Amino acid sequence: MKTCLQILWSVIEVTFIAVALAVLFSICVAAAQGQTVPVEVKTAAINAMKASDTDGMHEEGFIWGRDALGNVLIVVANSMPCGKTTCEEHYIATDPSILARLVSVEGFAHVHPRGDGIHKWVQPPSVEDMTFAADSPGALNLVFGSENKRVYFFDDKGMIKIIRLKEFLQ
Ligand SMILES: [Zn+2]
Repeated sequence: MKTCLQILWSVIEVTFIAVALAVLFSICVAAAQGQTVPVEVKTAAINAMKASDTDGMHEEGFIWGRDALGNVLIVVANSMPCGKTTCEEHYIATDPSILARLVSVEGFAHVHPRGDGIHKWVQPPSVEDMTFAADSPGALNLVFGSENKRVYFFDDKGMIKIIRLKEFLQ
């Protein structure tokens, strides 16, 4: 027969393990959600969204990767204007000299604008975005929904996850 004290101890032990597991789990989730991209990408994302938000009617984007020494490079793309129903989407480097130093591409990112109160833009990745990702295996693709404050992660195999912008920037 277990004494009351023994039972109490085992309850405490189980509780401790459960708490430890919960903490570990949340650390792992945070790692998986926020730290899969370099911090430079988060800064570039903030800049791209700020720029797109000036009118809510154009896209901003960038490519990221590494130079020959392994440093993270952000290749900012030219602004991509929106028409009446669609926005242009292509990555043309504003500074080709940075693009020239890129030896490996890790990802592509662009903002889906928040709109101007009259026009509304689709926030999740478009069919074209998914096709683009399918044509660039090994690269991570990110779409930032400036209106719905979501970040979409996808690659050549499809959608990976959707998280809140706040989580992404942590
Ligand atoms: Zn898009």
